[in-house]
Amino acid sequence: MRINISSLKDKPGASRTVSFSTDSLTGLEWEEPITQSSALEVTATVINTGSAFVVRGEVRTELELQCARCLKRFRYHLVAPLDEEYIPDTSHDYADNALEGDEDDQFAEFSAFRGDVIDITEAVREQLLLSVPLKALCTADCLGLCPSCGKELSSGECSCQQEIIDPRWADLARLLDQQTDTGNV
Ligand SMILES: [Zn+2]
Ligand SMILES: [Zn+2]
Repeated sequence: MRINISSLKDKPGASRTVSFSTDSLTGLEWEEPITQSSALEVTATVINTGSAFVVRGEVRTELELQCARCLKRFRYHLVAPLDEEYIPDTSHDYADNALEGDEDDQFAEFSAFRGDVIDITEAVREQLLLSVPLKALCTADCLGLCPSCGKELSSGECSCQQEIIDPRWADLARLLDQQTDTGNV
């Protein structure tokens, strides 16, 4: 995803809006069980701030995720913000003065570019991956599956639900029983 900024050069304050649509992005691989079910739509505005070119916008796509509670697959509309700063790399112009292996480079909060083209592929990829929910839920109040019969509890209670004690509470329940016993003595 490359943006030509030649029309913005030497014009602080100038901007242009671009949009891209692509089915796949170089270097982007969704981890199992995530699948992408629609194209990636990118809309961004590039602004010449005088010292840098700022790219602001968003990336949208449809994903298919798996619910962490009920394991059902569901569609998720992903919107990832884009906000990246690109600084013209002019180091080749004064190569003699440039510090070799400048250690600050790897901590820079901007990306360098050369020539008239800014490649936003890396920024788009990063933002997409950052915007996928770590724990995907089909609905915020998904009840998950009955640990005993496997029924999807959001669609109604199962017959065994009343008798089930969450294993995490089983020890506590036992402890309370013991205390009650002791108290009765
Ligand atoms: Zn669910
Ligand atoms: Zn059940």
